[in-house]
Amino acid sequence: MSAIAQYPSSFSVRDLELKLRQVRLAHPEQSLPSPPSSDSESSSPQQEIEESYFLRSLKECLAIYEEPSRARTESLSLLSDEEVIMLANNGNIATYALEKLFGIDQLKRAVRIRRAIISRASSTGTLESSSIPFENYDYSRVLGACCENVVGYIPIPLGVAGPLAVDGKQYPIPMATAEGTLVASTSRGCKALNAGGGVTTVLVGDGMTRGPAIDFPSAIQAGEAKAWIDSDDGHEILREAFESTSRFAKLKSLKTAIAGRTLYVRFATTTGDAMGMNMISKGTEKALEAMQKRFPEMVVLALSGNYCTDKKPAAINWIEGRGKSVVAEAVVPGHVVRTVLKTTVRDLCNLNVKKNLMGSAMAGSIGGFNAHAANILTAIFLATGQDPAQNVESSMCMTLMEPTGPNGEDLLVSVTMPCIEVGTVGGGTVLAPQQGVLDMLGIRGAHPQQPGQNAQTLARIIASAVLAGELSLLSALSAGHLIKAHMAHNRSQVNTPAASVPVTPGAGLASRV
Ligand code: ADP
Repeated sequence: MSAIAQYPSSFSVRDLELKLRQVRLAHPEQSLPSPPSSDSESSSPQQEIEESYFLRSLKECLAIYEEPSRARTESLSLLSDEEVIMLANNGNIATYALEKLFGIDQLKRAVRIRRAIISRASSTGTLESSSIPFENYDYSRVLGACCENVVGYIPIPLGVAGPLAVDGKQYPIPMATAEGTLVASTSRGCKALNAGGGVTTVLVGDGMTRGPAIDFPSAIQAGEAKAWIDSDDGHEILREAFESTSRFAKLKSLKTAIAGRTLYVRFATTTGDAMGMNMISKGTEKALEAMQKRFPEMVVLALSGNYCTDKKPAAINWIEGRGKSVVAEAVVPGHVVRTVLKTTVRDLCNLNVKKNLMGSAMAGSIGGFNAHAANILTAIFLATGQDPAQNVESSMCMTLMEPTGPNGEDLLVSVTMPCIEVGTVGGGTVLAPQQGVLDMLGIRGAHPQQPGQNAQTLARIIASAVLAGELSLLSALSAGHLIKAHMAHNRSQVNTPAASVPVTPGAGLASRV
């Protein structure tokens, strides 16, 4: 029976192509197309398929690949995809090094071949023909910067909430998420905030931190080093070395702490428009080199000794701040609370205290005094190319609500977020789609006049959007609307809160207690 005849009629053309590929691998002597003259990124799909099937013997391929008179990139262009796969499977080509071997003009081919190699080595064998996309992507921005062993990319739906008035300017709020109702809910919050004149923000701190762990032979020596760093002299020597590494890095503070004979130093620095982990790491390394001259016996155990603290929950971040520290505040008129948010100022304030403050206190939370700051923040992080793992500390937030206005009929609402770690240069912000989102906000790349202002604006937008998200979810909970919103979007059921009215103990009641 032929290989094709074994396939049920429901199989796609792609399945047939794959099977053909396998047959050709197993029987290389069977009819084969002629060798590729070169593999071009712009070649037609048909041309690509034909080229990818071409297969000579291992010996022949090795001779072509290892021909000393040719550059490896050129030799690879004389081999078909299947031949390259054969060499990789034979151990002649490292799968992780495909991009380097193929060169900048053949990055998509490197990805395509890696997918095939990984797919065929896996128990499921699905990757190669899966719907994980790999076409139409600028891999040159990924190479050496964003990801290794690339096999494609994962698209996430991008929604836009708002616009939201932040410090007098309207911003669409970009949110990459797969959580239904999140964008719609945030939009409702934006509408309520806009109706009250929008959000005002205040940036109360800006400093990325790195906290190395340094061992000394004894606690006494660790104590001497601590005293030196805390002195003006020590501080100045470290500052000079630190700031020599970047024009954007300005050392703001050095916080020291000792455990036994180990010294921790928390460097804090401005980082311009970069989120700043690379920048601060370079500066810290240089400062420690200067310190080593003064304390030759010290041993730097790790540039990050977790005293930073990066991507882990930590009280030090909540108390001292990390990245941008922002407060976003707004007044929502009472009639907007009733008509848009379908609740009352009194119910909202009561729920906020009982849930976000008391509930989180009961749970022993650090920085979790909010309803779902991480939801909004992470969606904006993904949309704008931030490091999503930093949502751990960046989402720390305290939401506050209190009645305001002459008769307390309006709502004063704020979020306090001490650790929004964002950048508009470096990291995932180099990728074209993420840059498109930053362009939409008018904050892509380095700020032309005031370095740091683009990243700060992004932090202000995020805090304001979190405010919208908090307001909307708290309102939905307090109004018991959560069920309806979720059901409308085919989501699972949740509990509806019952209305609660405090009873003031009267004489009769009081006498019983
Ligand atoms: P991170 O430190 O967040 O990991 P990168 O090291 O990838 O970021 O990017 C920061 C780089 O961008 C630095 O080399 C810095 O010199 C450069 N750069 C250019 N303009 C700016 C700016 N306005 N703010 C910060 N860095 C900038």
